[in-house]
Amino acid sequence: MTTSKEFSACVAHYDPDALPVEAAQEIVRQWAMPRTRGGLVERVGLHDALGRVLACDVISPIDVPAFDNSAMDGYAFASASLTRGADTLDLAVAGTALAGRPFATAPDASQCVRIMTGALMPPGCDTVVPQEHVMRAGDTIRFPVASVRSGQNRRLSGEDLAKGKPALRAGRVVRASDLGLLASLGIGEVSVRKRLVVAFFSTGDELRSVGETLDPGSLYDSNRYTLFAMLKRLGVETIDLGIVRDDRASLERALREATESADVVISSGGVSVGDADFTRELMNSLGDVAFWKIAMRPGRPLAFGRLWSGARAGTGKPALFFGLPGNPVAVMATFYFIVREALLAMSGAERQALTVVRAISAAPMKKRAGRTEFQRGIATRDDDGRWRVVTTGPQGSGVLSSMSDANCFIVLEHARGDIDSGDEVEIVPFDGLI
Ligand code: AMP
Ligand code: MG
Repeated sequence: MTTSKEFSACVAHYDPDALPVEAAQEIVRQWAMPRTRGGLVERVGLHDALGRVLACDVISPIDVPAFDNSAMDGYAFASASLTRGADTLDLAVAGTALAGRPFATAPDASQCVRIMTGALMPPGCDTVVPQEHVMRAGDTIRFPVASVRSGQNRRLSGEDLAKGKPALRAGRVVRASDLGLLASLGIGEVSVRKRLVVAFFSTGDELRSVGETLDPGSLYDSNRYTLFAMLKRLGVETIDLGIVRDDRASLERALREATESADVVISSGGVSVGDADFTRELMNSLGDVAFWKIAMRPGRPLAFGRLWSGARAGTGKPALFFGLPGNPVAVMATFYFIVREALLAMSGAERQALTVVRAISAAPMKKRAGRTEFQRGIATRDDDGRWRVVTTGPQGSGVLSSMSDANCFIVLEHARGDIDSGDEVEIVPFDGLI
């Protein structure tokens, strides 16, 4: 276990008042190690494996396909027949092979076997001529020799997955195709890592929960719902600790409870300059927490570190802590660009880089050099296949509708200044396919 001193040391390389996004990501990466405590693995059936992290390599118990078979509807024959010297080849149809109904005897050199896709290649046959190249008259076929090469249109046993080889690696987050792949191996259960447990809460005297009435100056707590959804999508287990009032005792209680029950604690609000003093003092007594001003927009204030459930820092059980800003869009930007990777790493998942696509900015954008900006964009594909992007409009970090209207983040790099219409920018699409 890394000590407090090491934590402070790794943060000390950077200016916490203007921490570049890449530096914050790098520090978080160093601290987000896969969990090692407790029973970490469970067996689940295929349906429950979707989105889970494989705990060990899955070794293929069989060859897939298990036998050589036809890739086309056509006629199977021995390719030695192709070398007879004529432009066309005549073969007599000796019988039929269907998927699941093999033709058991080897045809001789003047014969072929009618065959359907997926049918076992008859003995002695190594090539399939597709039916569309063939003229059939009665029980004889004729086709140009040039229409097929030796070995063509045959799927070889083990060409998809070879017996004894890893079919899926530990750390894999199981996707739709993987469920099918596991089923194709006859595997009905896999070992997956237990879900990471993440506790989260909102801070602020002004916040009300859905169902309460709004009195003057109050607003509904949206961050807990956004966080819940983003965490669910990542496949972690969530503990919702509600709204915590802006006083030391309430915050201390929430942090202790969260640290006791979870691997990771996420709060929103209460880390900007005005709040920092009382939060900072408390966090320092519970663990090693650094308050950063990240050079990003939205999402500038952020607290990151480790909390301990014991009476003093360094005692009891540790949990990684992310104190996100309160503004709803900042919560989402910091979650995806600072927190997400850490949660995946702690879950034992292989690294999954966000998809970045190049797009042409359809309009000028204001951008200040010296910080990374995550604007909300609407990207569309031109007739010529290029992506074009515009912002959703006002980019205030409290404008949550900008996230709902957008289909991507426009990521404007640290060093960059204003963007002209026609400039190339990077976008991160919100939706993945599988
Ligand atoms: P703070 O970081 O606590 O200063 O909050 C910054 C802004 O975000 C304030 O306008 C808060 O009212 C707002 N805010 C904080 N927490 C939430 C929340 N859970 N849901 C919606 N807005 C919030
Ligand atoms: Mg607040």
